[in-house]
Amino acid sequence: MESTLLNMELLEKEIQSYKDEVIALRRDFHRHPELGTQEFRTAEVVEQYLNDLGIPTQRMYTTGVVGLIKGAKEGKTVLLRADMDALPVHEETGLDFSSENPGVMHACGHDGHTAMLMVAAKILKKYENELTGNIKLVFQPNEEEEGAKFMIEEGVLENPKVDASFGVHLWSQIESGKVGLQAGPIMGEMFIFRLTVKGKGGHSSAPHEAKDPVPCAANIVTAAQTLQTREISVLDPTVIAFGKIISDGSYNALASTVNMEGTLRYVYDGSDDTPQHPRKRFRRLVDGICAAHDMEYDLELVPSSYSVINDEASVDFMKENVLPHFVDASQVQPYSCLAGEDFSEFINRAGVPGAFVFIGTGNKEKGTHYPHHASNFDIDEETLLNGVSLHVYTALEFLK
Ligand SMILES: [Zn+2]
Ligand SMILES: [Zn+2]
Repeated sequence: MESTLLNMELLEKEIQSYKDEVIALRRDFHRHPELGTQEFRTAEVVEQYLNDLGIPTQRMYTTGVVGLIKGAKEGKTVLLRADMDALPVHEETGLDFSSENPGVMHACGHDGHTAMLMVAAKILKKYENELTGNIKLVFQPNEEEEGAKFMIEEGVLENPKVDASFGVHLWSQIESGKVGLQAGPIMGEMFIFRLTVKGKGGHSSAPHEAKDPVPCAANIVTAAQTLQTREISVLDPTVIAFGKIISDGSYNALASTVNMEGTLRYVYDGSDDTPQHPRKRFRRLVDGICAAHDMEYDLELVPSSYSVINDEASVDFMKENVLPHFVDASQVQPYSCLAGEDFSEFINRAGVPGAFVFIGTGNKEKGTHYPHHASNFDIDEETLLNGVSLHVYTALEFLK
């Protein structure tokens, strides 16, 4: 036991010694952001880095990179995951390592995630002779839409078979130094909706001779907002947000169609097939309002991510065996939100036990408290080592 503790002290020093490297890697990715499924440069940098360390890699879902550290003794396999994709956002941070790819920005912190797992891999590789079991390092493309699902289809959970999965997100809505972790549903289920309300165009002086879809569309927007309080309890978080509404009319011509796009988010309620489900209620509402206005419509509901649900045993393991290595218990807080995250594919849809952890990176003085996906979003680089520690201690403790 004593020698383990001593090792851990040395390990802590070792982790600290990688501060400059993890920051430099993050800044390099930040400068060269790539959209989901197009992470070609990022994947090459990751692959080269792992191969230089002697870690064999495999490509999955084109830009996904999977590295494997095989322990000296046979045992379980733990999966550590980082996502690599950026967003179609025009960066306005003014950082000297701002995006060099106009209109694309690492506005969710995935640049940090990639850097953290790379450095963790470097450290863990040195311990392979002491490991009982394997570490699978998963660098995933296209988290913002769906990437995990396709890597699973291509076998990321097999050869060797994965026994547990852990993921992390740097989170600007949690203060730097703190960690957000709790059992149960922690992130929202998200469906993208695409709705077209179809009427008939005409002269704006004689709307009765046309079939104007605009009032109908406007009605849908306002009525949808009542679903989340008048039909669904306010204690069951639900958000229906319209991000885009475009008609094909002009100032003096009535539209024939209105295209609307948005998201439907809620915490998984286990009732996919009941009429009470938010998706079913939304469809019913669209159907009813279009009927009332005598409009045709097309409604497409596209699954993006399912609720992330942390299992209790994995959360206890993190709290008892992993977090105490680098964060005081008083800094660990329960946290949940409605953002989507396809890590749910690993721990919920595929049923591998595991947990998803939020690493606080919000610091008002440094200006890293802005929301994710905003053009002025930034992370507190001081917290990158917390992410490295999380990966390193998770793997070492799980395979102990
Ligand atoms: Zn995001
Ligand atoms: Zn994200």
